[in-house]
Amino acid sequence: DNEIVMDEDNIREYDKRYNLHSWSAQKNLNPLVITKAEGIYFWDINGKRYFDMSSQLVNVNVGHGNKEIIKAIKEQAERLPFIGPSYAVDVRSRLAAKVIEKAPDNMGKVFFTLGGADANENAIKIARMFTGRQKIFSRYRSYHGASFGAANLSGEPRRYTCEPGLTGFIKFFDPYIYREKIEFKSEEEASRYYLNKLKEQIIYEGADNVAAIFLETVTGSNGVIIPPKGYLQGIRDICDEFGILMVCDEVMTGWGRTGEWFACDNWNVKPDIITFAKGITCGYEPLGGVIVDKKIAEYFDDNVLMCGLTYNAHPIGCAAGCATIDVYEKEGLIENSKKMGKVLGAELEKLKEKHACVGDVRYIGLFSAVELVKHKGTKEPLVPYGKDPEKIMPRIIDKLRERGFSTYSHENCILVAPPLIIKEEELKEALSILDEVLDFVDEYIEK
Ligand code: PLP
Repeated sequence: DNEIVMDEDNIREYDKRYNLHSWSAQKNLNPLVITKAEGIYFWDINGKRYFDMSSQLVNVNVGHGNKEIIKAIKEQAERLPFIGPSYAVDVRSRLAAKVIEKAPDNMGKVFFTLGGADANENAIKIARMFTGRQKIFSRYRSYHGASFGAANLSGEPRRYTCEPGLTGFIKFFDPYIYREKIEFKSEEEASRYYLNKLKEQIIYEGADNVAAIFLETVTGSNGVIIPPKGYLQGIRDICDEFGILMVCDEVMTGWGRTGEWFACDNWNVKPDIITFAKGITCGYEPLGGVIVDKKIAEYFDDNVLMCGLTYNAHPIGCAAGCATIDVYEKEGLIENSKKMGKVLGAELEKLKEKHACVGDVRYIGLFSAVELVKHKGTKEPLVPYGKDPEKIMPRIIDKLRERGFSTYSHENCILVAPPLIIKEEELKEALSILDEVLDFVDEYIEK
């Protein structure tokens, strides 16, 4: 209704009356009303400024309000906002070529989707078509999306929305060394342990039935779990041994987040399939995709690719994608992610040293998590798995937000993943807010 003047109260009132928010009981929601976003900041309707320390949902890598991307979207909207997926369009061709140029050199072609979940849905189908096999392995501490297939792929509690789950989706444990009961002498030894277990599990599932192993190259939402040395290469070797496809979900980690174009580049491992979304357009338009190895691309020369979306390779999304990749290049954001990642890591180590409540900090590029505990020695998590009766984690997030630091938490971890354009002074200023709030958490656990 154009006649209604939207002020803070009725924006919220209409929102509460008509909008369904994800992953929430609706009654007690009290969303901030946001009116502006620029660079690493956004502002609420009262003019209060927030550091966007999660880049929203770890997707706004280039920061807010980028003029180049907005211009490309406007131009595409005026020129050709939509044409069906069967036609060739300049931005469609250009973006596909750019994606393949940035991906590891074994990659051949890309199938564009609208986001991460449908990228994974299509990757499952492609892996099954290519191998003629059915079973799909993925890890417990993983999130691959909320649509039915992607939720079955996910291992964490958001998977419970589709219990008892689809047959043929098998879970294995991730290399979460900090919480492992075994003390490993080295990262390599840890990798060997997890890989041997996985190999045993594959054999017992019938290796010939397994189409693909899906993994977030660096586990994201579930606590930024970084693969130990030799782990990803070990997965690659297992896949090669048994003719299984290695699928890296780079929805969160792709496009510079970890200091390389794709996280797998940190270990020089070449997966057969990469799924991506988020950072390809940084939220300026919805876009995702599935990148496939040359041999998979060739397979579909003669075999029908049974995948389709009305908005496959949407021209406005592709225009935004082209402009976003140009921004990464022109502004040197992949390099800045690596450089600022070192600062972030050093600062987080100081917080761990200083605060009794910080059990572990994990970081790579501008992707990090602070794991909170009740006791450093016992590693008892600040909140038990899947439960938070005293709502401690939301209280910590609220305290951060009150002080102008916006992020989110998962289980007992606080995510820190600012836009890749952040400067050293800004990063340090934001982390001083985190430092202050961790003092409260120290007091809480000492009580
Ligand atoms: N895969 C990973 C690793 C993610 O982090 C996410 C979203 O957070 C998804 C897939 C799902 O992407 P989308 O929300 O765009 O469907």
